[in-house]
Amino acid sequence: MAGAYCMYCIRRCFVSRQVIVGGQVLWSGHMATCDRGKRHDREALGMDSSTAHNPVWDGCECPNVCGPKQVATATGSSATDQPGTDQRAGS
Ligand SMILES: [Zn+2]
Ligand SMILES: [Zn+2]
Repeated sequence: MAGAYCMYCIRRCFVSRQVIVGGQVLWSGHMATCDRGKRHDREALGMDSSTAHNPVWDGCECPNVCGPKQVATATGSSATDQPGTDQRAGS
């Protein structure tokens, strides 16, 4: 990545992202965050930096993997209305 500048915005606008489908990492690398870079990523990978999984952010809410709503694996009370930023296991 040394010296790699985005060809659309002429900056290092990249962020780490993963394309995960069905629990499998299909692609891992850097995606652009500028509009035209994101459009390129959508065409090339099917998603862009705002929809792909962020492997370095605990609060990732990518629609395909993490999602804004917690998957109800271990039944709790309705977690659908929770903001979801402060999820604590147990208690
Ligand atoms: Zn860019
Ligand atoms: Zn995610």
